[in-house]
Amino acid sequence: MKNWWFIKGIKRGVITEKETKEIAEWSTEIQGSGEVNCPTNAIEKGRWDAKKCVFCRRCYPSYKPNMNPYISTVAKTEKLFKRSFYLFVVDSGTCGGCNLELKLIASPQYDMTRFGIFFTNTPRHADALVIMGVLTEKMKDVIKEAYDAMPEPKLVILLGACAISGGVIGNSVPVEATVIIPGCPPNPVTILDALRRVKE
Ligand code: SF4
Ligand code: SF4
Repeated sequence: MKNWWFIKGIKRGVITEKETKEIAEWSTEIQGSGEVNCPTNAIEKGRWDAKKCVFCRRCYPSYKPNMNPYISTVAKTEKLFKRSFYLFVVDSGTCGGCNLELKLIASPQYDMTRFGIFFTNTPRHADALVIMGVLTEKMKDVIKEAYDAMPEPKLVILLGACAISGGVIGNSVPVEATVIIPGCPPNPVTILDALRRVKE
């Protein structure tokens, strides 16, 4: 019997998913009850703080992820970025986890370019500065130089617990950011959702 599967495939075309159906359980919103010994104080008086959580699972099973990946904060949107939104990424001291998840949004599974989101190697072409890792005093000047080189309008994105709250190290230099993307590392769905919301 002849195998016509490829002819059928060409005729039908390939239908890609607009939204990702399969979401990894960690790092999604955490819910539960009771007192736990959280290493970053992300749970205090039964309240969970996404910005501090390093998703170490020490609170499991009293607290469990509920599969809600939409845990980012977007303080401001920018219509000028609607067609194209370029990201310049600075690693200020990561473990490599945030880098891997961020890179994933460029994979065919998530395909950020269909939403007009791209990476750039120069801050001069960037709309947003993405900071990952615990920001140290010595990296402050690097970050500032990159930010100053960016054209207006521009914004800062903090990606991952280390950049947001210092993670397990706990002492990041504070940075004002428009977009906060929690996780350790953040879920690619969370990252893509936050970036798309900025463009709206
Ligand atoms: S996963 Fe770890 S860091 Fe997050 S709330 Fe639970 S114990 Fe705290
Ligand atoms: S937030 Fe987690 S994954 Fe990202 S750099 Fe810090 S330790 Fe690594």
